[in-house]
Amino acid sequence: MKVIRLREGKERSLLRRHPWVFEGSIAKGGGDAGETVRVEAADGRFLCWAAFSPSSQIRVRAWSFDEAERIDAAFFQRRVQQAVAMRARLAIASDGVRLVHGEADGLPGLIVDRYADTLSSQFLSAGTERWKSQIADALLAATGCTRIYERSDSGVRGLEGLPSVAGWLRGEGATEITIREHDWRLTLDVASGHKTGYYLDQRDNRALFARLVRQFGVKRVLNCYSYTGGFSIAALAGGAEEVISVDSSGPALERACAHVVLNGFDPARHTALDADVNATLRQLIKDGRQFDAIVLDPPKFAASAAHAERASRAYKDINRLAFKLLAPGGLLLTFSCSGGIGAELFHKIVAGAGHDAGVDGYLLQRLEAAPDHPTSITFPEGEYLKGLAILQRASASVGAPVPLHLDEEK
Ligand code: SAH
Repeated sequence: MKVIRLREGKERSLLRRHPWVFEGSIAKGGGDAGETVRVEAADGRFLCWAAFSPSSQIRVRAWSFDEAERIDAAFFQRRVQQAVAMRARLAIASDGVRLVHGEADGLPGLIVDRYADTLSSQFLSAGTERWKSQIADALLAATGCTRIYERSDSGVRGLEGLPSVAGWLRGEGATEITIREHDWRLTLDVASGHKTGYYLDQRDNRALFARLVRQFGVKRVLNCYSYTGGFSIAALAGGAEEVISVDSSGPALERACAHVVLNGFDPARHTALDADVNATLRQLIKDGRQFDAIVLDPPKFAASAAHAERASRAYKDINRLAFKLLAPGGLLLTFSCSGGIGAELFHKIVAGAGHDAGVDGYLLQRLEAAPDHPTSITFPEGEYLKGLAILQRASASVGAPVPLHLDEEK
């Protein structure tokens, strides 16, 4: 068994059960990619069993803090079973469920989503790569599914020194799947969709949106960064008369249009715009358009905390434009999925955007990822999705709005 000895004082985060050790904290020791190592404090005290990752900044990811535990096939069976059992207790209103959410489930680097009878997975760390076959067997045993698709084609694999891999890991067949989310049917393709195929983390926020659209009698909806139209279907289900989905992915928009028909809504109520959101928002302002509800669910603008400042400007910009387009009393659902932008900072950014647009509003609700994307209390870094549901104050006056220079920027 190889041993990793930490520098003096560098054991603190592991003692708090934070599962990562960075390269600079290691005094000596090493291993092969994904090899199980024993991690010790400077004084030789046992800290954890972990996976070694020779080319990553995150050099060690803890599997277990229990010295008596063995890291073997049975270990992965236990962890996977625990994760699956936790989801079963959540009574999720969908057959699209995140079953394994990395660190929060004690399986750093592993993402597994269940779409009806099919699992879609990402193995994003050297440790999960090493144990892939045992993990796959454990997943099939715990779920009764017979198929696992692998989407280990995320950029973060490169940081681990791992190649991009995609294809069936177990089973075979069509990659197109239909799931039920709340009262809606949605389709996805595990081979060509984003991430594992769909954004399950917004499930509860889509249900909330449908409720709010109905409650506030929302008629005109602008769904920005719509992907395959999850929030658009929610809006139609809530009774919206006119819904515009904006995304830069043509295939995603085709699927959004298909979802409108699949769910029995009149396609005349829905428009798909294959365009850049920022440019579209500016054009809609020029055209004098207004919307009763707007959703802003952009991709990750900040890859890490180091990019927070630039990302902040980008978030502020789209939120300011969206505020400008909101009809009096309108509803804004605005999100950030950048881990590097905390909930408090995001609130400040949106507040600044409202101020610049001359718009004030009520904070109806703070939003987060659905509970099958949990954060463990020892790993707050896992928290990534945050959002605000804002109801514009109909007669807002928070000082003179800063003039919008539509042609100047970008
Ligand atoms: N709201 C969606 C998920 C959005 S994911 C849901 O509920 O499923 C972010 C989306 O933004 C992706 O579909 C991506 O294609 C799109 N996107 C990224 N950059 C964009 C841009 N500049 N303009 C428009 N869409 C963009």
